[in-house]
Amino acid sequence: MENKQHFKLAVIPGDGIGEEVIQEGLRVVDHLSKTSNKFTFESDYFPWGCEYYLEHGKMMDEDGLERIKNHDAIYFGAVGYPTVPDHISLWGLRLAICQGFDQWANIRPVEFLPGVEGKLNHPHKEKLNWVLVRENTEGEYSGIGGRNFAGRGPGKEVAVQSSVFTEEGCERVIRHAFDLAMKRDRKKVTSVTKSNAQQYGMVLWDEVFKRVSRDYPEVETDQWLVDAMAARFVLHPEELEVVVASNLHADILSDLGSALAGSLGIAPSANIHLDGRFPSMFESVHGSAPDIAGQGIANPIGTIGSAALMLEHLGLKQEADLINEAIRATTKDGILTADIGGTSSTREVTDAIISHISSKY
Ligand code: ATP
Ligand code: MG
Repeated sequence: MENKQHFKLAVIPGDGIGEEVIQEGLRVVDHLSKTSNKFTFESDYFPWGCEYYLEHGKMMDEDGLERIKNHDAIYFGAVGYPTVPDHISLWGLRLAICQGFDQWANIRPVEFLPGVEGKLNHPHKEKLNWVLVRENTEGEYSGIGGRNFAGRGPGKEVAVQSSVFTEEGCERVIRHAFDLAMKRDRKKVTSVTKSNAQQYGMVLWDEVFKRVSRDYPEVETDQWLVDAMAARFVLHPEELEVVVASNLHADILSDLGSALAGSLGIAPSANIHLDGRFPSMFESVHGSAPDIAGQGIANPIGTIGSAALMLEHLGLKQEADLINEAIRATTKDGILTADIGGTSSTREVTDAIISHISSKY
């Protein structure tokens, strides 16, 4: 076929189940590449993560960003290790990439999958289908602050952690949420803040939200405080379409959302840079899950769904849709890992997804 696209993926499997699920995602992409005949790809592997840290004293090489800067996308497993503090593993790799490559929107779809027993057996679970848009480069995770001010004595330490909200940072992520809403059947954007208690950054966010919303008269809007929204996620998830929130708030809400849908293991995500200078990064929402690593029972759906987001980002919407349909068909058939109530292995779930994709060609 003419115009066959070729992609270079930077693959960072990371630690724990990260390595297991990323292999499965790549199997699906490889299968699609062969059957669709629309694209080819090559994978460059980077062994960064906590194991690497324990051996080399750093999560990634100093020239790491430089080495993956020109890839078309980054496909990321998970990082985390019981003996490495989480703030080191997070800042040393994931956040270094998100911030270094200005991946300013983190997109986290939440969808009920047929056949999955949600941990919260919600009466409206079939309608659970929303996308959370998380501000991804500033806000509460700006990394600005310090400890041990003014030589205070033992037991009197003070730590300061500042949040940074810029008008441009708020605007681009809010605008992106509205653009996503415009592509959906129900056009609605919900903004979440805590502007009653945090009167600077969150109020700026609210003002920008109001201003941007005027450019999208077709889109219904509402604004909630994060505490009330946490309750709403549980009580009325069917009311949500596109939810946009700051780095911290959306981080918390997205775990809540994936738990509502059944498991952290099924939640995909994309860290998007949209201005063309840097690659975007695709990863499941869950971590390295050391408690189940090495057993072949990790749910690969979050990572396979992230591959769908990656293909869509690379212009292969049809192939992305095929993956998502195959995931739904697989869970509907009852082929489920233990976290969502089944007994299938990681491999069996992927095999089923691949065979559903095959049946479409
Ligand atoms: P990390 O420090 O890397 O974030 P964690 O254990 O704190 O690891 P997660 O890895 O997100 O956090 O796991 C939280 C819980 O969800 C664990 O009990 C884990 O087994 C479960 N879990 C996470 N991902 C999956 C998955 N893909 N399949 C099955 N269970 C999962
Ligand atoms: Mg964790």
